[in-house]
Amino acid sequence: MGLSKTIWANPSEIIRTRQPDHPVLVFAPAVLQATARRFIAGFPGLVTYAVKSNPDEMVIENLVAAGIRGFDVASPYEIDMIRRLAPGAAMHYHNPVRGRDEIAHAVKAGVRTWSVDSHSELDKLIAMVPTEGREISVRFKLPVQGAAYNFGAKFGATCEVAAELLRKAANAGFIPSLTFHPGTQCTDPMTWDAYLRAAAGICREAGVKAHRLNVGGGFPNHRTQGDAPDLEAIFALIDRVSTEAFDGDRPEMVCEPGRGLVGDAFTHITRIRALRDGGHVFLNDGIYGGLAELPLVGNIDRVAVFSPEGLRREGTAVERIVFGPTCDSVDRLPQELALPGETQEGDFIVFQGMGAYSSATNTRFNGFGKMEIVTALSLKL
Ligand SMILES: *Cc1c(COP(=O)(O)O)cnc(C)c1O
Repeated sequence: MGLSKTIWANPSEIIRTRQPDHPVLVFAPAVLQATARRFIAGFPGLVTYAVKSNPDEMVIENLVAAGIRGFDVASPYEIDMIRRLAPGAAMHYHNPVRGRDEIAHAVKAGVRTWSVDSHSELDKLIAMVPTEGREISVRFKLPVQGAAYNFGAKFGATCEVAAELLRKAANAGFIPSLTFHPGTQCTDPMTWDAYLRAAAGICREAGVKAHRLNVGGGFPNHRTQGDAPDLEAIFALIDRVSTEAFDGDRPEMVCEPGRGLVGDAFTHITRIRALRDGGHVFLNDGIYGGLAELPLVGNIDRVAVFSPEGLRREGTAVERIVFGPTCDSVDRLPQELALPGETQEGDFIVFQGMGAYSSATNTRFNGFGKMEIVTALSLKL
């Protein structure tokens, strides 16, 4: 991945001037900082950033500049990066399963907040982490829908086990807290409603007052046509339901968005290598590159097509199958994409809302995957 020092006006200027043959992610720091301020102003508690969604150093630096003071980290590498780029920021080690080497590394790096979802992992923390001022957040899960895909398949204790773990962490001398993740790109606010009420139930069951409740990530970004997600409505629901569920005496609230913070701060420029016999689109990027998560979460359909001169293509939309560049037959977008009738070989397909899980999961499979990240003042098309 390269880094250009030029600051562009917008994506169409990049197309017009450079006609890039490799995929280019266009980052607008102004959009990221505005979204961060929106979270800080609207969320009723501490806003932290889930580093895995986009660990680009420019992203971290702009979040710090916008006032983000905490990070959800999942590995020693992320811990070291945050220590370097945001010294003094809180680090929440919220990957609930770790090797002993990783625990030792994090203890040394000054991590104070840890999540767990099992007795075996809590026992490791009790053995290895000094308790003084250290917080353990028990991660629980519910069998509820509402997200593009469910994180509960991998992590999270049942409510019953969560109550045991909360009690055990408190008895061991840690600050007891709770956390959950409603699943990524969660567009049904009732998912948070169910989780918040369950959190209060776990505290009652355990007979432990949780110090903090971390509502995870899952906040949606603007991936599909139509209105952008109403983040303020989700913040208001979290505020109201958490107050109700804990009878007016709720824990301090924390959230750890990845996608919701960074998703709309990047636009992705891809190029059509071929329109095979006028039908299928062969793109210079696919599911082993910047479009890796589309088969998991669904297509981003906020797309526009530009000619090499930077002009918007028009014409009645045609639904097209879109393949990535590798020779693997699964390298294909999960649904057909509606593209303007005028679309031609050599045109650029621009995907909006591509900041999360795009640069971080790019691979060099089959020799493709050269990706560049450039900076722009605006992402307006
Ligand atoms: C991935 C992850 C997040 C961020 O999820 P988004 O859906 O991108 O907001 C937050 N917390 C934890 C523990 C995660 O693993």
